[in-house]
Amino acid sequence: MPYLAAEDRYDSIPYRRTGRSGLKLPAVSLGLWQNFGDTTPLDTQRAILRRAFDLGVTHFDLANNYGPPAGSAEKNFGRLMAEDFRPYRDELIISTKAGYKMFDGPYGEWGSRKYLLSSLDASLTRMGLDYVDIFYSHRADPDTPLEETMGALDQAVRSGKALYAGISSYSPARTREAVGILRELGTPALIHQPSYSMFNRWVEGPGDGAEGESLLDAVGELGLGVIAFSPLAQGLLTSKYLNGVPEGSRATKAPSWREGFLTDEVLERVRALNAIAESRGQSLAQLAIAWVLRDQRVTSALVGASSVAQLEDNLAALTKLDFTADELAAIDEHAVD
Ligand code: NDP
Repeated sequence: MPYLAAEDRYDSIPYRRTGRSGLKLPAVSLGLWQNFGDTTPLDTQRAILRRAFDLGVTHFDLANNYGPPAGSAEKNFGRLMAEDFRPYRDELIISTKAGYKMFDGPYGEWGSRKYLLSSLDASLTRMGLDYVDIFYSHRADPDTPLEETMGALDQAVRSGKALYAGISSYSPARTREAVGILRELGTPALIHQPSYSMFNRWVEGPGDGAEGESLLDAVGELGLGVIAFSPLAQGLLTSKYLNGVPEGSRATKAPSWREGFLTDEVLERVRALNAIAESRGQSLAQLAIAWVLRDQRVTSALVGASSVAQLEDNLAALTKLDFTADELAAIDEHAVD
């Protein structure tokens, strides 16, 4: 059956302006990091993407290395794009990134012009696209001059292969520097993509900016948007691990992640936060998403989902975004500083 998008797709969820740009993003966006590689059946991927778009999620976030194996998420997305979403290209914001290891040798990672521009070409080929909406430097490279990395982003935009430039996981000081260079080049930076959740609050600072300026303060002042990745702490901030480790969950696929994060102390925090969510009539996943969106500088919460049910649970967060001061204080007690 050819896919026909739901007619009421723009009636469900709110859109927020990305910093001081003209671009709006859905308050929840969908990332294709772990659940869209060759280890996930294509029909599952298709169902999640279709449901997301039918519910108004216009932004899909990728990177060159998403899979597993690296590159397969873009390849699979390209197939679904061709089969399902081609008529809707102008309604979609598709992003990709380069920065982490994609292939062996000196040109397969970090921030050189050589790597970024060839990687963007390869991403476009895998996805079967003429352009992406946002091209990111995936991480700051301590050994490449920032002028070179930002020059590559500028080139990507000028060549028409990307509409906007973004940076991911840059510190506040590096962010200010990068944004300044891009401004001089005439390609404003659109967005910053940092990790942010109740278990990871580094963006709130203090950061390495002047007088300890935090990332949120820096991007707020510079007029960039923020898209918060892993707002569910990769699934920890849901109820899924409260009664053991379900088969097929991320914790079973990544034992080292499980050992590092799924500790008794963390589970105690999860239980307490789950009780707060219940008192609000929400799931813990919904509480976690609403919590990152409580700051208006955050444009979008960038979630992952391994099923349609998870996606629907997450999007329902958007029906209750307000918090009382007491609720926020209670969350602070159990969140990680
Ligand atoms: P999340 O914190 O949203 O974790 C997603 C995982 O949580 C899912 O795969 C699923 O785990 C579980 N989950 C999601 N919803 C629910 C629910 N309602 N109930 C129970 N469990 C749920 O985000 P990710 O870590 O997946 O990252 C999201 C996106 O952010 C990525 O796809 C990518 O686009 C981006 N990202 C960017 C990075 C960067 O460096 N810029 C780094 C990491 C991510 P399970 O699979 O176990 O079912």
